Amino acid sequence: MLQQTTVAAVHDYHRKFLGLWPTAGDLAAAEDAAVMAAWAGLGYYARARNLLKCARAVVADHDGMFPDTYEALLTLPGIGPYTAAAISAIAFDQPSTVVDGNVERVMARLYNIHAPLPASKAELTAKASDLTPQARPGDYAQAVMDLGATICTPRSPACGICPWRDPCVARIAGTTAELPKKTPKKKTPTRFGIVYVAHRADGAWLLETRPTSGLLGGMLGWPGSDWSDDPAPAPPMDAAWEPLAEEARHTFTHFHLRLKIMTARVGADTQPIRGHFIAGHEFSPTALPTAMRKVFDLAHVTLRDD
Ligand code: SF4
Repeated sequence: MLQQTTVAAVHDYHRKFLGLWPTAGDLAAAEDAAVMAAWAGLGYYARARNLLKCARAVVADHDGMFPDTYEALLTLPGIGPYTAAAISAIAFDQPSTVVDGNVERVMARLYNIHAPLPASKAELTAKASDLTPQARPGDYAQAVMDLGATICTPRSPACGICPWRDPCVARIAGTTAELPKKTPKKKTPTRFGIVYVAHRADGAWLLETRPTSGLLGGMLGWPGSDWSDDPAPAPPMDAAWEPLAEEARHTFTHFHLRLKIMTARVGADTQPIRGHFIAGHEFSPTALPTAMRKVFDLAHVTLRDD
Protein backbone atom coordinates (compact mmCIF):
# COMPACT_ATOMS: atom_id res chain seq x y z
CA MET A 1 0.00 0.00 0.00
CA LEU A 2 2.82 2.38 0.78
CA GLN A 3 4.33 2.17 -2.70
CA GLN A 4 4.08 5.71 -4.15
CA THR A 5 1.73 6.64 -1.30
CA THR A 6 2.12 8.37 2.08
CA VAL A 7 1.54 6.76 5.47
CA ALA A 8 -1.24 9.28 6.16
CA ALA A 9 -3.14 8.24 3.00
CA VAL A 10 -2.66 4.52 3.70
CA HIS A 11 -3.49 4.43 7.40
CA ASP A 12 -7.28 3.97 7.21
CA TYR A 13 -7.04 1.55 4.28
CA HIS A 14 -4.55 -0.62 6.15
CA ARG A 15 -6.84 -0.82 9.18
CA LYS A 16 -9.83 -1.60 7.00
CA PHE A 17 -7.98 -4.38 5.12
CA LEU A 18 -6.69 -6.00 8.29
CA GLY A 19 -10.20 -5.78 9.78
CA LEU A 20 -11.81 -7.42 6.74
CA TRP A 21 -9.06 -9.92 5.93
CA PRO A 22 -6.74 -10.44 8.93
CA THR A 23 -4.73 -13.31 7.37
CA ALA A 24 -3.37 -14.18 3.94
CA GLY A 25 -5.89 -17.03 3.92
CA ASP A 26 -8.81 -14.66 4.54
CA LEU A 27 -7.64 -12.36 1.75
CA ALA A 28 -7.07 -15.27 -0.63
CA ALA A 29 -10.70 -16.33 -0.14
CA ALA A 30 -12.09 -12.82 -0.74
CA GLU A 31 -14.10 -11.84 -3.81
CA ASP A 32 -12.03 -9.86 -6.33
CA ALA A 33 -14.72 -7.16 -6.54
CA ALA A 34 -14.82 -6.76 -2.74
CA VAL A 35 -11.05 -6.21 -2.59
CA MET A 36 -11.09 -3.75 -5.49
CA ALA A 37 -13.96 -1.84 -3.88
CA ALA A 38 -12.12 -1.67 -0.53
CA TRP A 39 -9.06 -0.33 -2.34
CA ALA A 40 -11.01 2.32 -4.29
CA GLY A 41 -9.52 5.80 -3.85
CA LEU A 42 -6.03 4.58 -2.98
CA GLY A 43 -4.84 4.57 -6.60
CA TYR A 44 -2.29 2.37 -8.41
CA TYR A 45 -4.84 -0.42 -8.63
CA ALA A 46 -2.39 -3.01 -9.95
CA ARG A 47 -1.20 -3.19 -6.33
CA ALA A 48 -4.63 -4.42 -5.19
CA ARG A 49 -4.78 -7.05 -7.90
CA ASN A 50 -1.25 -8.20 -7.06
CA LEU A 51 -1.99 -8.24 -3.33
CA LEU A 52 -4.85 -10.63 -3.98
CA LYS A 53 -2.77 -12.80 -6.34
CA CYS A 54 0.02 -12.82 -3.78
CA ALA A 55 -2.28 -13.94 -0.94
CA ARG A 56 -3.57 -16.75 -3.16
CA ALA A 57 -0.03 -17.83 -4.07
CA VAL A 58 1.00 -17.79 -0.38
CA VAL A 59 -1.95 -20.06 0.42
CA ALA A 60 -1.57 -22.34 -2.63
CA ASP A 61 2.22 -22.69 -2.65
CA HIS A 62 3.41 -21.91 0.90
CA ASP A 63 0.67 -23.26 3.24
CA GLY A 64 -0.48 -19.72 4.05
CA MET A 65 2.90 -18.64 5.46
CA PHE A 66 5.17 -16.11 3.75
CA PRO A 67 8.52 -17.59 2.66
CA ASP A 68 11.48 -16.02 4.49
CA THR A 69 14.15 -15.72 1.78
CA TYR A 70 14.69 -12.96 -0.76
CA GLU A 71 14.66 -15.43 -3.68
CA ALA A 72 11.41 -17.14 -2.64
CA LEU A 73 9.69 -13.81 -1.91
CA LEU A 74 10.69 -12.57 -5.36
CA THR A 75 8.63 -15.35 -6.98
CA LEU A 76 5.38 -14.02 -5.45
CA PRO A 77 3.09 -11.79 -7.55
CA GLY A 78 3.58 -8.07 -6.97
CA ILE A 79 6.80 -8.50 -4.99
CA GLY A 80 9.80 -6.96 -6.75
CA PRO A 81 13.41 -6.61 -5.62
CA TYR A 82 12.71 -3.71 -3.22
CA THR A 83 9.78 -5.36 -1.43
CA ALA A 84 11.47 -8.78 -1.33
CA ALA A 85 14.53 -7.19 0.26
CA ALA A 86 12.42 -5.18 2.73
CA ILE A 87 10.37 -8.20 3.85
CA SER A 88 13.34 -10.55 4.12
CA ALA A 89 15.39 -7.97 6.06
CA ILE A 90 12.72 -6.45 8.32
CA ALA A 91 10.43 -9.44 8.88
CA PHE A 92 13.02 -12.25 8.78
CA ASP A 93 16.30 -10.49 9.64
CA GLN A 94 18.05 -11.66 6.47
CA PRO A 95 21.05 -9.61 5.21
CA SER A 96 19.21 -8.23 2.17
CA THR A 97 19.95 -4.76 0.88
CA VAL A 98 16.91 -2.50 0.93
CA VAL A 99 17.25 0.50 -1.36
CA ASP A 100 14.51 3.11 -1.50
CA GLY A 101 14.76 6.79 -2.44
CA ASN A 102 16.01 7.68 1.02
CA VAL A 103 18.81 5.12 0.88
CA GLU A 104 19.79 6.29 -2.60
CA ARG A 105 20.15 9.83 -1.30
CA VAL A 106 22.24 8.73 1.68
CA MET A 107 24.56 6.62 -0.51
CA ALA A 108 24.98 9.38 -3.12
CA ARG A 109 26.08 11.77 -0.37
CA LEU A 110 28.11 9.35 1.72
CA TYR A 111 30.22 8.44 -1.35
CA ASN A 112 29.80 11.78 -3.19
CA ILE A 113 28.42 10.09 -6.32
CA HIS A 114 27.50 12.68 -8.95
CA ALA A 115 26.22 10.37 -11.72
CA PRO A 116 22.48 11.13 -12.05
CA LEU A 117 19.61 8.80 -11.13
CA PRO A 118 18.20 6.56 -12.45
CA ALA A 119 21.42 5.54 -14.30
CA SER A 120 23.38 5.55 -11.02
CA LYS A 121 20.95 3.18 -9.28
CA ALA A 122 23.17 0.11 -9.71
CA GLU A 123 26.21 1.93 -8.29
CA LEU A 124 24.22 3.24 -5.30
CA THR A 125 22.76 -0.22 -4.68
CA ALA A 126 26.25 -1.77 -4.76
CA LYS A 127 27.44 0.74 -2.15
CA ALA A 128 24.41 0.03 0.02
CA SER A 129 25.05 -3.70 -0.34
CA ASP A 130 28.69 -3.31 0.77
CA LEU A 131 27.49 -1.61 3.95
CA THR A 132 24.77 -4.14 4.86
CA PRO A 133 25.94 -6.04 7.95
CA GLN A 134 25.41 -9.72 8.77
CA ALA A 135 24.44 -8.79 12.34
CA ARG A 136 20.92 -7.36 12.81
CA PRO A 137 20.39 -6.60 9.13
CA GLY A 138 16.69 -5.89 9.73
CA ASP A 139 17.46 -3.13 12.23
CA TYR A 140 20.13 -1.80 9.90
CA ALA A 141 17.72 -1.69 6.91
CA GLN A 142 15.20 0.32 8.91
CA ALA A 143 17.89 2.55 10.40
CA VAL A 144 19.40 3.57 7.08
CA MET A 145 15.96 4.27 5.60
CA ASP A 146 15.05 6.33 8.67
CA LEU A 147 18.38 8.15 8.49
CA GLY A 148 17.45 9.25 4.98
CA ALA A 149 13.88 10.13 5.96
CA THR A 150 14.68 12.14 9.08
CA ILE A 151 18.34 13.29 9.09
CA CYS A 152 19.77 13.10 5.57
CA THR A 153 16.71 14.89 4.18
CA PRO A 154 16.54 16.28 0.63
CA ARG A 155 16.93 19.87 1.85
CA SER A 156 19.02 20.92 4.84
CA PRO A 157 20.37 17.55 6.02
CA ALA A 158 21.18 17.56 9.74
CA CYS A 159 24.83 16.56 9.28
CA GLY A 160 25.71 17.69 12.81
CA ILE A 161 23.77 14.82 14.40
CA CYS A 162 24.42 12.24 11.64
CA PRO A 163 26.23 9.05 12.72
CA TRP A 164 28.03 9.07 9.34
CA ARG A 165 29.18 12.70 9.44
CA ASP A 166 32.90 11.75 9.70
CA PRO A 167 33.14 9.44 6.66
CA CYS A 168 30.58 11.38 4.57
CA VAL A 169 32.45 12.58 1.47
CA ALA A 170 29.74 15.01 0.29
CA ARG A 171 29.67 16.73 3.69
CA ILE A 172 33.45 17.23 3.56
CA ALA A 173 33.30 18.36 -0.09
CA GLY A 174 30.35 20.69 0.56
CA THR A 175 28.21 19.03 -2.15
CA THR A 176 25.29 17.65 -0.08
CA ALA A 177 22.80 20.18 -1.49
CA GLU A 178 23.37 19.05 -5.10
CA LEU A 179 23.08 15.29 -4.42
CA PRO A 180 21.60 13.02 -5.52
CA LYS A 181 21.56 14.29 -9.09
CA LYS A 182 18.64 13.29 -11.25
CA THR A 183 18.13 13.17 -15.01
CA PRO A 184 15.42 15.77 -15.74
CA LYS A 185 12.00 14.24 -16.28
CA LYS A 186 10.22 14.61 -19.58
CA LYS A 187 7.11 16.78 -19.56
CA THR A 188 4.04 14.76 -18.54
CA PRO A 189 1.77 14.23 -21.58
CA THR A 190 -1.99 14.77 -21.56
CA ARG A 191 -4.48 12.20 -22.83
CA PHE A 192 -8.16 12.74 -23.52
CA GLY A 193 -11.20 10.51 -23.14
CA ILE A 194 -14.99 10.55 -23.24
CA VAL A 195 -17.11 8.93 -20.54
CA TYR A 196 -20.84 8.28 -20.60
CA VAL A 197 -22.92 8.56 -17.45
CA ALA A 198 -26.42 7.14 -17.91
CA HIS A 199 -29.01 7.46 -15.17
CA ARG A 200 -32.09 5.29 -15.51
CA ALA A 201 -35.57 6.51 -14.53
CA ASP A 202 -35.60 4.06 -11.57
CA GLY A 203 -32.36 5.53 -10.21
CA ALA A 204 -29.92 2.91 -11.59
CA TRP A 205 -26.50 3.90 -12.99
CA LEU A 206 -24.78 2.33 -16.00
CA LEU A 207 -21.30 1.13 -15.02
CA GLU A 208 -18.82 -1.38 -16.29
CA THR A 209 -16.00 -3.38 -14.79
CA ARG A 210 -12.85 -2.37 -16.59
CA PRO A 211 -10.65 -5.07 -18.19
CA THR A 212 -8.27 -6.60 -15.65
CA SER A 213 -5.18 -5.52 -17.56
CA GLY A 214 -4.35 -1.86 -18.03
CA LEU A 215 -5.02 1.24 -15.99
CA LEU A 216 -7.73 0.96 -13.33
CA GLY A 217 -7.93 -2.72 -14.35
CA GLY A 218 -10.71 -4.63 -12.62
CA MET A 219 -12.18 -1.45 -11.16
CA LEU A 220 -15.70 -0.19 -11.61
CA GLY A 221 -16.00 2.76 -14.02
CA TRP A 222 -18.18 4.59 -16.50
CA PRO A 223 -18.25 3.19 -20.03
CA GLY A 224 -16.28 5.34 -22.43
CA SER A 225 -13.73 5.82 -25.15
CA ASP A 226 -10.07 4.95 -25.23
CA TRP A 227 -7.71 7.47 -23.66
CA SER A 228 -5.57 9.05 -26.36
CA ASP A 229 -4.80 12.28 -28.19
CA ASP A 230 -8.02 12.09 -30.16
CA PRO A 231 -10.47 9.55 -28.69
CA ALA A 232 -13.32 8.22 -30.82
CA PRO A 233 -16.83 8.51 -29.34
CA ALA A 234 -18.03 5.18 -27.88
CA PRO A 235 -21.52 5.62 -26.43
CA PRO A 236 -22.79 2.47 -24.68
CA MET A 237 -26.27 2.98 -26.17
CA ASP A 238 -28.38 5.35 -28.21
CA ALA A 239 -29.57 8.15 -25.94
CA ALA A 240 -29.93 11.91 -25.85
CA TRP A 241 -26.37 12.44 -24.67
CA GLU A 242 -25.58 15.94 -23.41
CA PRO A 243 -22.02 17.12 -22.77
CA LEU A 244 -21.18 18.67 -19.40
CA ALA A 245 -19.47 22.04 -19.56
CA GLU A 246 -16.83 20.90 -17.08
CA GLU A 247 -14.47 17.99 -17.71
CA ALA A 248 -12.95 15.68 -15.10
CA ARG A 249 -9.20 15.94 -14.72
CA HIS A 250 -6.95 13.40 -13.09
CA THR A 251 -3.21 12.80 -13.06
CA PHE A 252 -1.74 9.30 -13.24
CA THR A 253 1.96 8.51 -12.85
CA HIS A 254 2.80 9.00 -16.52
CA PHE A 255 0.10 11.27 -17.90
CA HIS A 256 -2.64 13.78 -17.21
CA LEU A 257 -6.15 12.66 -18.15
CA ARG A 258 -8.98 14.97 -19.24
CA LEU A 259 -12.36 13.29 -19.49
CA LYS A 260 -15.23 14.86 -21.40
CA ILE A 261 -18.46 13.82 -19.67
CA MET A 262 -21.63 12.95 -21.56
CA THR A 263 -24.79 12.46 -19.52
CA ALA A 264 -28.20 11.07 -20.32
CA ARG A 265 -31.40 10.10 -18.59
CA VAL A 266 -32.68 6.86 -20.04
CA GLY A 267 -35.85 4.82 -19.85
CA ALA A 268 -36.41 1.68 -17.78
CA ASP A 269 -36.29 -0.64 -20.81
CA THR A 270 -32.94 0.62 -22.15
CA GLN A 271 -30.51 -2.09 -23.25
CA PRO A 272 -26.87 -0.99 -23.24
CA ILE A 273 -24.32 -2.60 -25.55
CA ARG A 274 -21.67 -2.20 -22.83
CA GLY A 275 -21.76 -2.28 -19.07
CA HIS A 276 -24.56 -3.10 -16.68
CA PHE A 277 -27.02 -1.10 -14.63
CA ILE A 278 -26.49 -1.00 -10.89
CA ALA A 279 -29.52 -0.09 -8.77
CA GLY A 280 -29.26 3.30 -7.08
CA HIS A 281 -29.38 1.80 -3.57
CA GLU A 282 -26.63 -0.70 -4.43
CA PHE A 283 -24.28 1.84 -5.97
CA SER A 284 -21.74 3.59 -3.78
CA PRO A 285 -19.45 6.22 -5.37
CA THR A 286 -16.78 5.17 -2.84
CA ALA A 287 -16.36 1.94 -4.86
CA LEU A 288 -15.08 4.01 -7.80
CA PRO A 289 -11.41 4.82 -8.40
CA THR A 290 -10.70 8.52 -7.94
CA ALA A 291 -10.76 9.46 -11.66
CA MET A 292 -14.21 7.88 -12.03
CA ARG A 293 -15.37 9.38 -8.75
CA LYS A 294 -14.54 12.84 -10.08
CA VAL A 295 -16.76 12.10 -13.10
CA PHE A 296 -19.59 11.07 -10.79
CA ASP A 297 -19.24 14.18 -8.65
CA LEU A 298 -19.68 16.40 -11.72
CA ALA A 299 -22.34 14.34 -13.52
CA HIS A 300 -24.39 13.63 -10.44
CA VAL A 301 -25.21 17.30 -9.88
CA THR A 302 -26.57 17.73 -13.40
CA LEU A 303 -28.58 14.53 -13.42
CA ARG A 304 -29.98 15.18 -9.98
CA ASP A 305 -31.07 18.73 -10.94
CA ASP A 306 -32.72 17.74 -14.21
S1 SF4 B 1 26.71 13.66 6.97
FE1 SF4 B 1 25.00 14.81 6.16
S2 SF4 B 1 24.98 14.41 3.95
FE2 SF4 B 1 26.30 12.89 4.90
S3 SF4 B 1 24.95 11.11 5.22
FE3 SF4 B 1 24.93 12.33 7.11
S4 SF4 B 1 23.18 13.73 6.90
FE4 SF4 B 1 23.66 12.89 4.88
